[in-house]
Amino acid sequence: MTFEGSKNVVVGISEIYKRIDSVISRHNPQCSKCGNCCDFESFGHKLYVSTPEVIYFRRHFKGPYRKMTRQICPYLENGKCAVHNCRFAGCRIFFCKADAKWQNELSEQIIKELKLLCEQNEIPWQYVELQAALEAAIAEKEF
Ligand code: SF4
Ligand code: SF4
Repeated sequence: MTFEGSKNVVVGISEIYKRIDSVISRHNPQCSKCGNCCDFESFGHKLYVSTPEVIYFRRHFKGPYRKMTRQICPYLENGKCAVHNCRFAGCRIFFCKADAKWQNELSEQIIKELKLLCEQNEIPWQYVELQAALEAAIAEKEF
């Protein structure tokens, strides 16, 4: 992908995240910010991330990638998200106490938008668990 293409993806993701955050603020879901859902194994949760989100994350995250050795997000620090501004779509949409219907609808809509962003910028669509995406980022290869 060209630098211009990568820039377009970063701008596109930024817009998608703003749309997500705007929908979320309308629903105003309750969240105690306990961080339990970032401990995937104990919460029974999985986080999938897509190609353009990882490009955006790579651009914004300053510092070495963290290996995910257990089924806990490595960016969970003392119960808080250390990458809050560049957290993934799945992190932004999931709220354990909110109605699953609008969350599922929003997820489906956002996946369509993420796929479209890939098509427009001629990048391959991939949607993998966070662990696989981080391993690929550490190895500096496409995931
Ligand atoms: S969504 Fe639920 S589990 Fe996750 S941080 Fe909020 S209250 Fe905690
Ligand atoms: S990126 Fe942040 S919000 Fe998302 S799973 Fe990791 S710690 Fe939780």
